Amino acid sequence: MITELKSVRDVWKKMPTERHARLFLENAIWGDDRFCPHCGSLSSRPLRGVSVRPGLYQCIEKECRSQFTVTTKTPLHATKLHLRTWIAAMFLVLTSSKGISSVVMSRILGVNQKTAWKLGHAIRELMDDRQGIAGRLSGVVEVDEAFVGGKPKFRHGVKNKRGRGTGKPIVLVAAARNGQARAVLIPNAQGRTMKPIIEGWIDPASALITDKNPSYGKIGAAFASHHTIQHNKRQYANTKTGAHINTVEAVNAVVQRALIGVYHRLGRKHLQRYLDEIIWRWNHRTPENKVRKRKSSSGLSTSKTTTVWRPIPVVDQMRGLLCGAVGRQMRRTPSWGLRWP
Ligand SMILES: [Zn+2]
Repeated sequence: MITELKSVRDVWKKMPTERHARLFLENAIWGDDRFCPHCGSLSSRPLRGVSVRPGLYQCIEKECRSQFTVTTKTPLHATKLHLRTWIAAMFLVLTSSKGISSVVMSRILGVNQKTAWKLGHAIRELMDDRQGIAGRLSGVVEVDEAFVGGKPKFRHGVKNKRGRGTGKPIVLVAAARNGQARAVLIPNAQGRTMKPIIEGWIDPASALITDKNPSYGKIGAAFASHHTIQHNKRQYANTKTGAHINTVEAVNAVVQRALIGVYHRLGRKHLQRYLDEIIWRWNHRTPENKVRKRKSSSGLSTSKTTTVWRPIPVVDQMRGLLCGAVGRQMRRTPSWGLRWP
């Protein structure tokens, strides 16, 4: 079993043939329970013979009897690319700390840019936690909105608005102190828009921290406690209660950097999928304590422990992505669009 992939080259080294890649995918998508993607039955048999393409199975349920492979009804459905190219693309998306553009990906994989673009979106499609596997945020949870996109062009004598009222896309972000976060594109920052989302994301037993935006007043009442900080006065921590929203600010900073640095020229249409990627990366890290010993001038040694967040191994992330792949088929339209059959 493959437990580690260190580079794109490693994909071809550890999976010398397409058969290896298929077995890797079968293990990640099905584990020990191969199921029919058409009816969900656990009874199926491999089809063999010279005219049968490798990796083909048939459901033995009487009403179904459909044939399928490991990629059926996933974003890899009917792909013409090598499976190893897909695995390498996943490796690139998962290991690029700020995301990867389709131009760069096409150069590394040797596919054309349109293909790389589709690969990227298909992988992002797997990052959206639609089934709610991640569960609800809990503990101390910070919530904030962010306006994404660069600064408007400077025009003499025109004072550009900041924040609310600029017409920039608004992203609602929640971040728990334990390292888990959520982000979604919202049409406006009104309480009635944000309330159902926040209540769906966060366990009611949590302590909520937000800025003083009045929209949060009613929302906060649904939680065990609600602290606010005065955002517009450049206060990022409440001096009396110690409440701060540094975690959610950190998530926001990552979102802004990724959207400006890598995915400029970003359509609103695909923004949510890029957000899913950024949040995936944020959520798949694990804290590591680092102890630093220092000797002071008087000869006393002191040690300081700092927490460093590191990404979890890429193969584990791939398994996490692939285990929910069935049912997420998508296709590219001839005009650069995406459609979901
Ligand atoms: Zn079936």
